Amino acid sequence: MAGIVVVFDFDRTLIDGDSDRWVVTQMGLTSLYNQLRTTLPWNSLMDRMMMELHSQGKTAADIAQCLSQTPLHPQVIEAIRSAHALGCELRIISDANLFFIEKILDHHGLLGCFSHIDTNPGELDEHGRVRISPYHDHSLPPHGCCLCPSNMCKGLIINQIRSSISNNEKKQFIYLGDGGGDYCPSLKLGESDYVMPRKNYPLWTRIRSDPLLIKAEVHEWTDGEELAEILLHLIHTISTDGKTT
Ligand SMILES: [Mg+2]
Ligand SMILES: [Zn+2]
Repeated sequence: MAGIVVVFDFDRTLIDGDSDRWVVTQMGLTSLYNQLRTTLPWNSLMDRMMMELHSQGKTAADIAQCLSQTPLHPQVIEAIRSAHALGCELRIISDANLFFIEKILDHHGLLGCFSHIDTNPGELDEHGRVRISPYHDHSLPPHGCCLCPSNMCKGLIINQIRSSISNNEKKQFIYLGDGGGDYCPSLKLGESDYVMPRKNYPLWTRIRSDPLLIKAEVHEWTDGEELAEILLHLIHTISTDGKTT
């Protein structure tokens, strides 16, 4: 299955919930979060939350412990392992952050299944504090995509992945997502690709509002069980088609 690239969004796709919200609610930051929500861009807000935890004496290990409790559907775990074992290239493109994503994947033994994680940087500073910064650095010229938030255009990342693939390699994408930020990359997919939007979430709604704009074949899913079944079915279908042609 060397010709298949599976791209996961993270929050509400690979994991059932939202990693940022999980840490905010589980670590007692809800009231500060609500107070600052409208005053700061998302990455700055989460960076501020990390500063608050540090000032309360909470360590990166405490945050990692909290992240390890984030629900991840057992069948999604199995599907990721199977797709990796079958030789698919697995990637994540997420507007969460690297610290959160790596801790969750590592806890479930999945980190090694992914070849790349494109997300907002999240790393420890010299004081042991988790620092979160934008993927598309604000010192750079704007990415210029009006569909996406200023810190990340996922469509641009899909185009970069595509341009890194040489012309004689035939690759098919399976893109899984739920949010409005997953619409731009879905528009970049071609006729031989697949998009898997989570049913009744913003990506699904936007695709349905004008289905002709999407060239990829659309397969909706509702929960981790369905995600796993459909993903493995598509991988099987692509690989079977590949053998007969
Ligand atoms: Mg999401
Ligand atoms: Zn975009």
